[in-house]
Amino acid sequence: MLDIDKIRKDFPILHQEVNGHPLAYFDNAATTQKPISVIEALDGYYRGYNSNVHRGAHFMADKATRHFEDTRTALQKFLNAKEDAEIVFTKGTTESINLVAQTFGKKFVKEGDEIIISAIEHHANIVPWQMLCEEKGATLKVIPVLDNGALDMSVYDELLSEKTKLVSVVYASNALGTINPVREIIKKAHAVGAKVMIDGAQSSSHLPVDVQELDCDFYALSGHKLYGPTGFGALFGKKELLEQLPPFMGGGEMIKEVTFEKTTYNDVPFRFEPGTPNIADTIAMRLALEYVDAIGKDKIAAYETELLNYATDKIEKIDGLNILGTAPEKVSVISLTSETIHPYDLGMMLDARGIAIRTGHHCAQPLMKRFGIEGTARISMSFYNTEAEIDRLVEGLERIVKMFG
Ligand code: PMP
Repeated sequence: MLDIDKIRKDFPILHQEVNGHPLAYFDNAATTQKPISVIEALDGYYRGYNSNVHRGAHFMADKATRHFEDTRTALQKFLNAKEDAEIVFTKGTTESINLVAQTFGKKFVKEGDEIIISAIEHHANIVPWQMLCEEKGATLKVIPVLDNGALDMSVYDELLSEKTKLVSVVYASNALGTINPVREIIKKAHAVGAKVMIDGAQSSSHLPVDVQELDCDFYALSGHKLYGPTGFGALFGKKELLEQLPPFMGGGEMIKEVTFEKTTYNDVPFRFEPGTPNIADTIAMRLALEYVDAIGKDKIAAYETELLNYATDKIEKIDGLNILGTAPEKVSVISLTSETIHPYDLGMMLDARGIAIRTGHHCAQPLMKRFGIEGTARISMSFYNTEAEIDRLVEGLERIVKMFG
């Protein structure tokens, strides 16, 4: 059992009133809140040892470098990668996916090749592949989605072929909550010789993730969706694969030796980290990972599933609201549609009650189009949410539905 009262005390932002009501924050798929340890780590770096990392000849630079690299080790452990060199620091999931599209694409994708994504992807896992396919004359194939929000895996079997160079799919959908059968996706892709990238933007905070057990080739995450700071993300890549990739961007830090005639590149992961990195946020990220680990990812997943079931049971009973996405495997996301109420109105009226949700297309326009809608009202829950908050949400939804007749 999680001690939610104790956990909530660690998140200062949760203890405020919004529009005269206690805040109930249900927009965790957009970004999660930060525990005090993360906030203090940011403050501690800027007050105590702000310095550039690597090659510094003084105390503060050495301290900053050690803390900076400690986060790499923490992420290696968090994802169970084989070694630190498999963890590349980026700005977030978006940059991680673009990095792979640009570098893996440059090296391995040719005219006539195929990339497979799914119909429930975030734009971050669509557009980089479209850009690559356009550049290379490759083709983008899409695994379709069933009415319940799960992927149509029988079509996946038909799409795979020796032309498939890479499959890139989301582990857990931000728009519907669907958990994709990534193990099966990875196994089948490998059987035709394709590599697999997993968009872990949502799964990283909700599910235990072991990249060796999954056997994915690349895995992307965003720190800010994992109780850490914005502007920090990571890319896991199998070392033997990363070593074959060309650099993403050129500059300082990513080189071994530069002459005007020829530059040699640094080893992985530094080859992919040019310029002064996001030091403070990277350092603070370790505290977020430690916070999640201290609670336990299994316990988090179990509690969030309880919240999901509790909310789903209650919301299903409200006439006039539909839940989009009822796949059997889901993270704690509930996407609502209504024939009479615009999602934006739902969001604004809940906000008047201190309840924060997100409305719109959730950066998944092709998915919205598939269901013939413009957007949804999305409730996304975290381990610091409570059943009492869900009761307030349900009461609010009932009132709004009644008002709209
Ligand atoms: N993929 C998914 C599934 C997401 O939910 C998000 C963020 N909403 C992203 C990718 C992009 O993440 P970021 O904006 O942090 O780069």
